[in-house]
Amino acid sequence: MTLPTPRDAVSALPRYVPGARGTAGGVPPTKLSSNENPFEPLPSVREAISGASGAINRYPDMSSRDLVEALATLYGVPEERVAVGAGSVAVLGHILEAYCGEGDEVVYAWRSFEAYPILSRLTGATPVEVPLALGGRHDLNAMARAMTDRTRAVLLCSPNNPTGPAIGTREFEAFMEGVSPRTLVVLDEAYVEFVRDPHAVDGRKAIARHPNLVIARTFSKAYGLAGLRIGYALGEPEVVSAIRACTTPFSLSGLAQVAALASLEAEPELLARVDLVVAERARTVAALKRQGWDIPDPQGNFYWIAAGEEASALAAHLGAASPPILARPFAGDGVRITVGSAEENDRVIAALDSYPSRF
Ligand SMILES: *Cc1c(COP(=O)(O)O)cnc(C)c1O
Repeated sequence: MTLPTPRDAVSALPRYVPGARGTAGGVPPTKLSSNENPFEPLPSVREAISGASGAINRYPDMSSRDLVEALATLYGVPEERVAVGAGSVAVLGHILEAYCGEGDEVVYAWRSFEAYPILSRLTGATPVEVPLALGGRHDLNAMARAMTDRTRAVLLCSPNNPTGPAIGTREFEAFMEGVSPRTLVVLDEAYVEFVRDPHAVDGRKAIARHPNLVIARTFSKAYGLAGLRIGYALGEPEVVSAIRACTTPFSLSGLAQVAALASLEAEPELLARVDLVVAERARTVAALKRQGWDIPDPQGNFYWIAAGEEASALAAHLGAASPPILARPFAGDGVRITVGSAEENDRVIAALDSYPSRF
């Protein structure tokens, strides 16, 4: 039987591997595999969602007017500088779709967010992966050297998922100086709310200085709305308009829009929770360092163990705890573990203590 064939770029796509969800039926696992927020949704956010549920027979506001307005107010920018989408992965995809195609190159660090190779290849463009420097940091000098006149976009992930460190302001500014104004620089700040490194780049300030810079942020991590899919980008009106042109109509649901609005209203409460996660991060990583683990500077809600060839074995060791601890292994490279509740982190500390080697 002859079937229509997908584009070559699609057939060759690597598949996104989601964090493990655990076994059905058994004891609920400690799920630290997807960098989710450990806190339950706020009552005010749940109320907003149930209040809006009576209107799900209607299409949502396609332009997400109220949410765009609220974000514009929060950031002190005009609304035409704010694009929203069904998760920042979708927004990143639209940015690349809008700017890249066959014959173009997309430069990003590796290892970094596993959606980058997929989203880049999907456009037909060629990914150019630049190895991370020591300590899981972006090697911005090497990335600058990797750029050619075919480079249409650069993806920077700060803090870097899965290794943890943020990009420094000074190295970022030096990098931007060398980038052609025709190349779009995309700063993915999915974990920016968890950053405590005073030298880390803040995309919010940087966009005012660089017209070819666009930043992507999300409600999934700090705001605990991963299940509802809301992300956004801030940049020049031309970039925002291109993102909007690529967005699937009505993809940001009405429930997502009201949940995001309610979360912005509850921002102090949510950011207090972020502080708790940051404190747990410090406590957990300090305990692990005392056990002899070498952990790169964690600026997100997760930390990285560069276990190399033992990555899968280390994840299996955590999975053998009772109840199982689900981490996110990258075979041959390392294991990423999300900062959970204090009890969950204590379980990780105990489980890692009994692993026979250190990295
Ligand atoms: C989680 C994550 C995102 C955002 O995901 P959405 O849920 O689609 O908003 C984006 N970039 C990185 C690096 C992430 O880890």
